[in-house]
Amino acid sequence: MSRRVVLITGANGGLGQAIARSFISESAENFVWLGVNRNRERADALAKEFSQQCRCTSLDVRDAKAWSNVVREIVAEHRRLDVLVNNAGSHQDALLANMSIEAWREVLSTNLDSVFHGCQAVLPTMISQRSGRIINIASLSALLAPPGQTNYAAAKAGVVALTESLAKEVARIGITVNAVCPGYIDTEAVAGMSDEERKAALSRVPARRFGKPEEVAAAVRFLACPDAAYVTGSALKIDGGVL
Ligand code: NDP
Repeated sequence: MSRRVVLITGANGGLGQAIARSFISESAENFVWLGVNRNRERADALAKEFSQQCRCTSLDVRDAKAWSNVVREIVAEHRRLDVLVNNAGSHQDALLANMSIEAWREVLSTNLDSVFHGCQAVLPTMISQRSGRIINIASLSALLAPPGQTNYAAAKAGVVALTESLAKEVARIGITVNAVCPGYIDTEAVAGMSDEERKAALSRVPARRFGKPEEVAAAVRFLACPDAAYVTGSALKIDGGVL
């Protein structure tokens, strides 16, 4: 496989790290840009470990200007950008009756506006290449909206709808746009659960275990590979059978 240039947002987080490692190990030819926000220790360590294959760059995904700067930096260096993984996200759970407008706006901004800005920033390059892969990390909450997550569920459902709509706009140009919808994945988010919450969550999963970050990363890598050229506008659930 020839060199591919990949940008992953939220690359310091649990899933971002697994996705980055998976592209790094796929081919020594791949070059992976790690978008980081407030925390960057793990991304810095990865960039140090694989200094020939990846680099960190500051990217607050809510900021359109930051996006254009990062894409300019990448294209100046490689003359191309093949894969964008919109992985950054956050949640602030609360019942709608008690939810502050700040929590609503922040969650919509980090999970949905971010995907709009990211797609807009990379499309001119992908259109001129006549190729590109955009993979948006949504959530099972987009499809099975739980109570206490009106902001997050609405944002992630928006990501799925954006994915389907944009996929139709750019399919003829050789660009695919897909979403993945992870259920419970063993990252810090799940590690923070009490024993009781963990037990209750596990009882809802037919596979009787949480997913591994590597299992989400493998699906992302498939959607980015040449064999997936005819897969576009899809929302792939990775949930151990919950839905
Ligand atoms: P983490 O909290 O470990 O990682 C989220 C990452 O997003 C962090 O690196 C964080 O950086 C970054 N981020 C948050 N806000 C911004 C911002 N404004 N600009 C740039 N980066 C930002 O979560 P996960 O790795 O578990 O989740 C990754 C994605 O997967 C998210 O979109 C999440 O919604 C989704 N997901 C996760 C599931 C799970 O079970 N883990 C299930 C379903 C979906 P910083 O801390 O520096 O702000």
